[in-house]
Amino acid sequence: MTTAASRGLDPEVYRGDFPILSQGVRDGRPLVYLDNAATTQRPRQVIQAMVDTYEHHYANVHRGIHWLAERTTELYEAAREKVRQFINAPAGEQIVFTSGTTGAINLVARSWGDANVRAGDEILVTEMEHHSNLVPWHQLAERTGAVVRHLPLTEDGRLDLAPFDALLSRRTRLVAVTAVSNVLGTINPVEEIIRRAHDVGAVVLVDGAQSVPHLPTDVAAMDVDFLAFSGHKMLGPSGVGVLYGKRDLLEAMPPFLGGGSMIRRVTLEGFDPGDVPARFEAGTPAIVPAIGLGAAIDYLAAIPADAIHEHERRLVERAHEALASVEGLRIIGPPPEDKAGIVTFTLGRIHPHDIAQLLDRHNIAVRAGHHCAMPLHRRYRLSATTRASFYFYNTPAEVDALAGALDQVRQVFQRRK
Ligand code: PMP
Repeated sequence: MTTAASRGLDPEVYRGDFPILSQGVRDGRPLVYLDNAATTQRPRQVIQAMVDTYEHHYANVHRGIHWLAERTTELYEAAREKVRQFINAPAGEQIVFTSGTTGAINLVARSWGDANVRAGDEILVTEMEHHSNLVPWHQLAERTGAVVRHLPLTEDGRLDLAPFDALLSRRTRLVAVTAVSNVLGTINPVEEIIRRAHDVGAVVLVDGAQSVPHLPTDVAAMDVDFLAFSGHKMLGPSGVGVLYGKRDLLEAMPPFLGGGSMIRRVTLEGFDPGDVPARFEAGTPAIVPAIGLGAAIDYLAAIPADAIHEHERRLVERAHEALASVEGLRIIGPPPEDKAGIVTFTLGRIHPHDIAQLLDRHNIAVRAGHHCAMPLHRRYRLSATTRASFYFYNTPAEVDALAGALDQVRQVFQRRK
């Protein structure tokens, strides 16, 4: 059978929807946007959904009894339902809108963590985590006296699962792991990790910031306890993200932020918290961003999810081949078949900031630095790297432009020696 993925996805079909991609940045040359792991661009449909809301459907949610408030509440709750379907969650109550992946992980660390983690308990992270999936656990450990342990990385950028069973024990309360590394692009075997962690009774939080936008996600099949992701990395606006949680876990969790909307009853003596998910959405939420995220999901859901991954894999393969011809360039991470759309590299002794600045002169946008993953960089004895990251709207020609520009960067530095 010919699947959409095997036929291949044609980025040109979609590029016209993204106003920013056709914008000449300098000298009328088009922008080559290869910084999608930092944030993606938005199609007109998402921008328009937000403009429409502000122009026609805007009031506060879950408060007013006037028709406008009811209309906005309907749109906000419809967005929750779209998220539910997109990740195959059993019920809408299991979708909590947060400010982003960082907000979602901090919510779990503060609420679930403070209620369930005690001195001597262990939290198992990995050496490839983004700071968002490290610092909240360090903070939890500081508050409770728990210990943070970690799974190491192999030289070629994969999780080393050999010591996993030795690291797991009845003391392990939580395993926090990213589904896809934001630096190496590595796709981790999260289902196996979840199964083995559950065997010792540990809860698993998966950081889906780099996976949900790019790979099919089914929380029911994964059997994951918590999944966190961000709207702005999947065509939606910044300011909104999602925490999915198993119902029994969410229902047992105390609220973290207190305020309006999250209560059933308040007296001068105390309060009764509301039901989930309202219990975790104190105050006026990111109403329009959530509705924008719903529109982003409409857009993404119309593209076969496996076709997105397959297209990005082809771009990564092409990048690995093309960059191999640039003298002195070293790609950090596993081969293309084990990666999502991320290629991170060093180029001789040229500082990544200089590389990114020179690429910018070619109108090529990449990211340089430690990418909020300092422990990972230390593991490879690096202080910084350069990262090109793709989405379904990137083209093979853009990969070639990157390779060509990098060769020129190399020549500029060789001349300076
Ligand atoms: N985890 C990973 C793997 C990420 O790539 C990012 C964003 N770079 C985050 C967490 C944090 O996401 P946000 O800034 O949207 O909260």
